[in-house]
Amino acid sequence: MSKPDDVSSVKTAKLKTNQLKDIPVQYVKGVGPRRAQLLERLGIKNLDDLLFYYPWRYEDRKNLKKICDLAFGHHETTSGEVISTEIITTRKKGFKIFELVVTDKTGLLKCKWFNQPYMERYFKKGQKVILSGMVKGNPFLGADFIRVKVSSGPEMENPDFENLESEDTFIHTSRIVPVYKATEGFTPKQLRTLLFNTLSTYSPQIMDYIPEHIIKRNKLMPLQPALKEIHFPEEFNDADALNRGESPAHKRLIFDEFFLLELGLALMKKKEVSEKGIRFNGESLLVDQFIKTLPFELTNAQKRVFELIQEDMKRDLSMNRLIHGDVGCGKTVIALLSMLLAVDSGYQACLMVPTEILAEQHYINIHLMIKELGVEVVLLTSSSRAKPVKEITSGSAQIIIGTHALIQENLHFKNLGLAVIDEQHKFGVVQRALLRRKGFNPDILIMTATPIPRTLALTLYGDLDVSLIDELPSGRKPITTKVFFPTQKDKVYSLMSGELSKGRQVYVVYPLIEGSEKIDLKCAVEGAEAFQKFFPERKVGLIHGKIRQEEREALMVSFKSGVIDVLVATTVIEVGVDVPNASLMLIVHAERFGLAQLHQLRGRIGRGKHESYCLLMAYPPFSEEAKRRLKAMASTGDGFKIAEEDLAIRGPGEFFGTKQSGIPDLKIAHIIRDIDILEAARRESFTLADSDPFLKNYPELKKTLYSTWQGRLELIKS
Ligand code: ADP
Ligand code: MG
Repeated sequence: MSKPDDVSSVKTAKLKTNQLKDIPVQYVKGVGPRRAQLLERLGIKNLDDLLFYYPWRYEDRKNLKKICDLAFGHHETTSGEVISTEIITTRKKGFKIFELVVTDKTGLLKCKWFNQPYMERYFKKGQKVILSGMVKGNPFLGADFIRVKVSSGPEMENPDFENLESEDTFIHTSRIVPVYKATEGFTPKQLRTLLFNTLSTYSPQIMDYIPEHIIKRNKLMPLQPALKEIHFPEEFNDADALNRGESPAHKRLIFDEFFLLELGLALMKKKEVSEKGIRFNGESLLVDQFIKTLPFELTNAQKRVFELIQEDMKRDLSMNRLIHGDVGCGKTVIALLSMLLAVDSGYQACLMVPTEILAEQHYINIHLMIKELGVEVVLLTSSSRAKPVKEITSGSAQIIIGTHALIQENLHFKNLGLAVIDEQHKFGVVQRALLRRKGFNPDILIMTATPIPRTLALTLYGDLDVSLIDELPSGRKPITTKVFFPTQKDKVYSLMSGELSKGRQVYVVYPLIEGSEKIDLKCAVEGAEAFQKFFPERKVGLIHGKIRQEEREALMVSFKSGVIDVLVATTVIEVGVDVPNASLMLIVHAERFGLAQLHQLRGRIGRGKHESYCLLMAYPPFSEEAKRRLKAMASTGDGFKIAEEDLAIRGPGEFFGTKQSGIPDLKIAHIIRDIDILEAARRESFTLADSDPFLKNYPELKKTLYSTWQGRLELIKS
């Protein structure tokens, strides 16, 4: 395949950072079609991806350790010459160990690879290699002991290795070297060479896009040297600090990621705020009437938050408010009050939720709660039988409850004034934007039960006003949570039967609907049968995603009214289901669930005045992480603590699922570790958005921003 002409011509012009994406990696010197395919596995599709493919760690090869100086129990890097290779077959049938012995004249190092006999291919006698790994074996064995059995000296198991040729030494040794996540067919060493060459070719032509004054004020390195330094550190030569992300080059590139993220959010917010929204009536008879019918007094936190919403809705700017509060704090009532306020001003209001079950539950509850007020409530999901499309278009439907079906293209509202999104963690920026387009700058209220650490609130929800419901309705009893193992089944059954005989109801949650041949997991269908056998005098129900809507509704009604005693379910009941008489939840295979999910599930109980129990049945063996999750669940019911622990276990990237959230990926920035940089980037981006909301003076930045957000910003803008 020949290269198109324009590729070599880009070398001569100054490359704008937003153009790097236009050069497929295949045409980068030294790549070609076959290697391009391999690189694609690493997510590298174009020149930009390649230049910004950061090392995942650094290794100090300035002074490679001598073999005699290797410290036992430490991760070390050394080099030597291969003196022998051998494949050893162990007594266990078919099990092979590849053994390599190298020497550097100060000692011998033995390396072992288990069941990878093909490793033999990579090593030849007399070749010079670099090896990096955990040092095991017996303490020091010097050169004098060469004839002594080698196995008593230092050893490494499955070390990282590289072959060395003398002309390589500048890139691969005698310096701090970057180590890249590699893929089969493309070794870390090859990647290092490729990056070295690519940087030499292109980096002198890359233009900076961050405004000069921002670079100065924040004492940032310019982009070119920062890119060079992040890959091949020279000025900064402390490998440990580099591994902690603490070099000036890190600071610059971390700043960039946050800055582009926050600037996008800032501009969105600016745009939304600057557009005239709806001015709703501040007072509403409907709302007052409704509050009177409530069987309880609103908590102070609920009152405070609703007052804020009223203030927002009264103004002629559109509201963008996020309410977060732990499961069970009473967010539904807040949503309903706000919707009634909109309806009383003559507008439609909708409530969008992530699952059909939740939509159905909300619909039933809200219907019951406001039937006396004469407000027309409808339900729209993709599986609802009669779709109230006409009513929505004509405006006779005043409150519309539904799922993603609400943002489908051909659905038109008469006059949508307020859109409430429940359980925001299941939706992203894009869905929010689509919902907004269903009206003319409707007010947006977002509710989430996932407590948001401050740092995340700043990043993921940087364009929203955030308020917190920090109080649970009074009289709630804490939930006792305990971990059980399969050997303790009897105890679990007796706790269940105790609750049932007190007239309480029970949930049992499984990770799967049906068993699978591949994974040996307990499943809901079998579970329901087993529990029915065990509790013959009780009624056991089974609910999961594959059950038809009518049946599902009927099941939930029977559970709510107490006809069903034990509800066996999958995670379809994760959010929103509200049955105060249920006081016990058994989660089977609790080790398989994520922390946020466990907390959400647990939120289904402890909603009434009864003491409640959450039993986590865990099937060993399980990972350290699973252990931490179970421990966190058993030790606290506080959603904030859980969220923080979750963040600590999973790391920020996975915490919310950045993909779902619709914001650009953070490759090098870490929202907890780099909070100071985040705050600086946020300040700068919001200031810039204020002074130049269309980035007229910074076309380069504008293009880079748009290409970073990959179209998502246009969607939000239009
Ligand atoms: P979440 O915030 O998890 O969505 P819900 O809105 O489902 O919580 O409320 C949980 C339960 O608490 C519901 O049964 C609801 O009727 C009840 N509730 C809400 N507010 C109050 C209150 N102020 N006092 C007592 N119970 C309340
Ligand atoms: Mg809720």
